[in-house]
Amino acid sequence: MLRYSTSMNTLLDELKLIFKGSIETDQKTREAYSHDASIYELVPEAVLSPLDTHDIQKLVRFVNLNKQSHPSLAITPRSAGTDMSGAAIGSSLIIDMTAHFNKIYSTSATMLHTQPGVFMRDIDPALLEHDAMLGCVPASRAINTIGGMVANNSAGEQSLRYGNTDKSIRQVKAVLSDGNEYTFKPINKKELSVKMAQNDFEGDLYRRVYELIDANYDLIKNARPKTHKNSMGYNLWTTWDRETGIFDMTQLLTGSQGTLGVITDIKIAAVPKAKHSGLLLAYLTDIKHLDQIIPLVTSHNPATFEGFDDVTFGLGIKYFSMFRKQLGTKEWLKQQAALLGSVAKFKGHLPNIVLMMEFEGETFEEVNEKIVALNTDLINHKIKVRTEIEGNEEQSRPFWEIRRASLSLLRLRVAGKYASAFMDDMAVQPQYVPEFFPQIRKIIRKYKLPATIAGHFGDGNFHIIPLMDISDPQEQLKLEPAMRELIPIVLKYGGTMAGEHNDGMVRGPWMPAVFGNEMYELFKDVKEIFDPRYIFNPHKKTDASWDYSMDHIRSNHRRNFYT
Ligand SMILES: Cc1cc2nc3c(=O)[nH]c(=O)nc-3n(C[C@H](O)[C@H](O)[C@H](O)COP(=O)(O)OP(=O)(O)OC[C@H]3O[C@@H](n4cnc5c(N)ncnc54)[C@H](O)[C@@H]3O)c2cc1C
Repeated sequence: MLRYSTSMNTLLDELKLIFKGSIETDQKTREAYSHDASIYELVPEAVLSPLDTHDIQKLVRFVNLNKQSHPSLAITPRSAGTDMSGAAIGSSLIIDMTAHFNKIYSTSATMLHTQPGVFMRDIDPALLEHDAMLGCVPASRAINTIGGMVANNSAGEQSLRYGNTDKSIRQVKAVLSDGNEYTFKPINKKELSVKMAQNDFEGDLYRRVYELIDANYDLIKNARPKTHKNSMGYNLWTTWDRETGIFDMTQLLTGSQGTLGVITDIKIAAVPKAKHSGLLLAYLTDIKHLDQIIPLVTSHNPATFEGFDDVTFGLGIKYFSMFRKQLGTKEWLKQQAALLGSVAKFKGHLPNIVLMMEFEGETFEEVNEKIVALNTDLINHKIKVRTEIEGNEEQSRPFWEIRRASLSLLRLRVAGKYASAFMDDMAVQPQYVPEFFPQIRKIIRKYKLPATIAGHFGDGNFHIIPLMDISDPQEQLKLEPAMRELIPIVLKYGGTMAGEHNDGMVRGPWMPAVFGNEMYELFKDVKEIFDPRYIFNPHKKTDASWDYSMDHIRSNHRRNFYT
């Protein structure tokens, strides 16, 4: 039976008098919201579904009023709960944004205007009507929402061209800690001066954030990870640009993981969806050839450049039956035959790495020309790699199925273990991948962390998810020393510990180690400017501590999103 405080009971009775949406306190609901896709668990006191923005405003004011008498009172925004860093769970009040904030306002070939609780699986077809898509959509697009994407600064296959969500965001509305809703969009220096002259919470916010960035301009710009993708920290480096004179507070809200306010409205740029696509597959027997391949492939500007290791490939072949339901029997049989045809050529020796270079075009011929051009270049440069052309979407499909399911595949091998995301999202500059990769594999072996490795090779971003009995204290002991060994390696190559999965409870405690104390203090200042009473999503990002996180490691291995 979950413990429940009587004083909280009284408080919630008071809240029910002003809150129009539902307030659930039953054991089943609280347990259901106690997990996301991370290694942590936090049981909330209540799960609230705000009916509209006024409800969120009333809730924020209510929490402010009662914070002093109930210091643990706080609000954790949650959308689909697929977060891998432990940021979508909280021990106080969860607000579920999927119940009523699920309206798409408008779509066009260039823009999506939506509420935050809309699932990507509903946005994708709406944009497709305009031959458009979002350039930052994650692999979890079947199960995640747009609000979670913005709050996590998510990214995906197409991010090689379009970057993380922060590159596409155009306008955000959010309820902040004073209980008011504000609109944020890029503004020029004149507009900024007007905002800063306001004698209110908003004026104070603009003034203090501007002063903080301008006074530490070089420190901030230099602290930015040198990678193409990053979702750690608060985006101070893209909020104020002296050269363009643009001040853009959407950048701070994007990637803030619900720690600065509750996002209520989103405008985000859409990009054209290509009519045709095809793959060039490259099978590497030795990882060392990556140093020649990566620059060559990148110079051909592929739409996506993904890959996976031999463990993933082997499991993908062995468990290809897992795709039967989603593909349908006829399609599945076709895909399986094609895959086995490719595999037969290896005569029992699977390649070390499978690389997938995808090209797009208006016609099939255009796609094919691009694929052949890269293939010819690889041959002319005498790079030791075997290639195979999967010239259209259908031929490419089995490889995409394996790549996207890479997180699930390892889970199928060992029952009773949990896909434990803690070293799941490191990114380095792509040219260093050949040096970086073997060092990471060494740590995986040293700590006996059976894991598949898949990633966005073009971005130097890797998903390494070890399979562990995470409730076992002996297994838990591996986390801290492994993190301590990984961070300097990632930093040596100008990298980040999170290309797209953000900080939450798992990487928040390591922010000083990654960015240095001076920069960490600036991140903390941002939190305090926006949320001086710490009412939003405690124990995440700058407010995280390793001890607190370790005290809340999940106690069961219930099936999660990976399976
Ligand atoms: C199988 C799998 C594959 C994945 N692949 C990818 C991938 O390719 N790329 C990637 O980037 N991520 C990936 N993820 C992680 C996750 O799916 C994404 O970060 C996703 O965008 C989160 O969306 P969500 O709706 O589930 O958000 P949630 O998990 O509900 O929330 C995420 C964060 O956003 C905050 N939040 C949610 N809504 C709001 C709001 N309205 N206002 C303020 N804060 C809010 C929450 O507090 C939390 O901090 C994957 C996860 C899984 C399980």
